[in-house]
Amino acid sequence: MKKKCMLFCIVLFLGAGCAGNPYKDTVTQTSTIDILLAGVYEGDMTLGELTGYGDFGIGTFNRLDGEMILLDGEVYKVRADGRVYRPGNDEKTPFAAVSRFEEDTCIKIKEPVSRQELQSLIDDHINDPHLFYAIRITGKFSEMRTRSVPAQQKPYPPLTEVAKKQPEFEMKDISGTIVGYRCPVYVKGINVAGYHLHFISSSFRQGGHILDFEMSEGRTQIDTLSRFTLIMPDNAKARHKLDLSLERSRELKEVEQ
Ligand code: ZN
Repeated sequence: MKKKCMLFCIVLFLGAGCAGNPYKDTVTQTSTIDILLAGVYEGDMTLGELTGYGDFGIGTFNRLDGEMILLDGEVYKVRADGRVYRPGNDEKTPFAAVSRFEEDTCIKIKEPVSRQELQSLIDDHINDPHLFYAIRITGKFSEMRTRSVPAQQKPYPPLTEVAKKQPEFEMKDISGTIVGYRCPVYVKGINVAGYHLHFISSSFRQGGHILDFEMSEGRTQIDTLSRFTLIMPDNAKARHKLDLSLERSRELKEVEQ
């Protein structure tokens, strides 16, 4: 009898844990990077729905109207004019990845590090390259170089064309947070393998998709994510625009650099 009661309690406890955070250690992504590369810049997921899957993440907005940073449950939009906007819950995204951030590892940064050095340091702390990692880096940056993307008009050009006309922003001695992911190599076609990082300043006035940075001090928090959920767009036209026989890794390289 006692045993039965205990088992029941354990089931209840586990159940309560799942109900509290059904998206624990899960990356939830809408659409694929290859669909975005194919020029499908209109998705059907609202930001209201997206933030139900996590409080942390990156992406873009319909018509490619800026870089998305989701931090502590708030969505920020860095538009091509370099300013930061707060989009409404009914705005939509064609591509985003989000998770519920819970720190598993923390690395203190006490000496200046370049982007490459910091990424190598993170690589050293990661013990399984098959998993996804949410990366949250908070601190002071002596240099931060970002870009954003201008909103597109129909007929939409492919992303490689858009990437040629993206404004870049240089920031000096700025504090803020880097938000992003390190994805395993096998995500090719679905997301960006390796690091994909966005920045938002602590004043919430500047940011963008990171090209490079030099960090002076701060901390790097890593959340290990062992689950991946892909939500394909409802829009069948979007899916059919994707030629599955095309290999797009070269296009992605042009866009991401
Ligand atoms: Zn980006």
